[in-house]
Amino acid sequence: MTTAIDAIRTAILEGAPGEELGALPVPEAVRGALVRAEDQTMFDGLPSEEKDPRTSVRVEDFPLPELAPDEALVAVMASSINFNTVWTSIFEPLPTFQFLKRLGKESVWGARHDQPYHVIGSDAAGVVLRTGSAVRNWKPGDAVTVHCNYVDDQDPSSHDDAMMAANQRIWGFESNFGGLADISVVRANQLMPKPAHLTWEEAAVNALTNSTSYRMIVSPNGSQMTQGQTVLIWGASGGIGAYACQYVLNGGGTPVGVVSSPERAALLHELGVEAVIDRKAEGYRFWNDEGEQDPSEWRRFGKKIRELAGTDPDIVFEHPGRQTMGASVFVAKRGGMIITCAATSGFMIEYDNRYLWMNLKTLKGCHFANYREAWEANRLIAEGKIFPTLSKVFSLEDTGEAAYQVHHNLHEGKLGILCLAPEEGLGVTDGEMRERLLPQITLFRKYG
Ligand code: NAP
Repeated sequence: MTTAIDAIRTAILEGAPGEELGALPVPEAVRGALVRAEDQTMFDGLPSEEKDPRTSVRVEDFPLPELAPDEALVAVMASSINFNTVWTSIFEPLPTFQFLKRLGKESVWGARHDQPYHVIGSDAAGVVLRTGSAVRNWKPGDAVTVHCNYVDDQDPSSHDDAMMAANQRIWGFESNFGGLADISVVRANQLMPKPAHLTWEEAAVNALTNSTSYRMIVSPNGSQMTQGQTVLIWGASGGIGAYACQYVLNGGGTPVGVVSSPERAALLHELGVEAVIDRKAEGYRFWNDEGEQDPSEWRRFGKKIRELAGTDPDIVFEHPGRQTMGASVFVAKRGGMIITCAATSGFMIEYDNRYLWMNLKTLKGCHFANYREAWEANRLIAEGKIFPTLSKVFSLEDTGEAAYQVHHNLHEGKLGILCLAPEEGLGVTDGEMRERLLPQITLFRKYG
């Protein structure tokens, strides 16, 4: 017997017109990768590295909620793993059910999110199935990617830069019904056109990390790099780092990429990054056994950067946090900027403030991207000026395994997840453009 979700999948694969898709029945429940409230203490007392997403992430059916007027239902063909998937699945730094509770108190529509399960995922590529009565720019049948800035446009504080909104959230992390599911619920102002030359899985991996790197490197809300500047990029072959490298190269800057293996160094060279530091091979120990930072190691690191780039970095693209921030503040050029969006290795940061103030450096916080920035970042992908960094693809059932690999730094670039797409390689509508750009589109696959 054909189920409602099979009928939707088949219609999309056969290129059915929007009216036909919009008329198909939507199932009451669909598959999703989720964590459950009853599991949120399962890792208590364990060190982070022993908290295993393969145990906490389940793939189960969940009921689809009623659609709000400003929302769309998206049939998700593919999604991706982000580091926030890891945070949710190991319940660190806190269980995300607290976010859902807070959202639940905001309105009747918010209340739908406060459930004993959290459907995770902050990326998606797919097709619009239904739109709420207030949605103007999208209709059933539109092929889309989804960015994760979940913001209330009736809040005045969201109208300069939506990332400044008092109740700004990340969809699929601080809201329910995320992208790692067969059908997702999104606000219409999260939708963007799917790049025609990419497969579903290639289109699905970009929005979160690409938009974040766009804001950090390109936008006036970030560091707004100018031509000729040198940018130190930590984790340069990782989720956000690999897009940062591309933005620096596109903008006429010099990236200095830091990675932790010769394979990653080779990948960066192929991407066009000449100055690469293998932090493992160099053996930097910014923290000594006494739990103190070692300025002589900062100096050794700074010397290496000068050797490779001929100068100190104008901008440091920071996200490892505790392990690296002391070094990042030290090596930035006089008057330079350290821009940070995360603290993977620990958020209680220590650095020597004398190097910051005496050398007039700026330490700036940055978080995801507003709709305009995400749209611009998506447009650059659609125009073939920025490339996806998809290295490997997993099934929705294997979300836990994929999150485990990201948690343990075993992946390159981005990991994709197939949701409704039955196999890889589908969804391309501009084959000519794809053919022309194939080596760049598939570069990370060689290292997956
Ligand atoms: P990722 O794919 O895991 O990449 C992170 C990279 O950082 C790794 O490839 C690794 O590279 C490097 N790294 C890890 N631990 C390190 C350490 N102790 N010292 C130096 N380098 C280290 O993750 P991602 O997607 O790039 O995300 C990175 C962080 O940014 C995460 O914490 C994520 O939650 C956060 N993030 C924040 C936002 C936001 O909007 N605020 C958006 C996206 C991501 P090597 O081992 O090769 O050096």
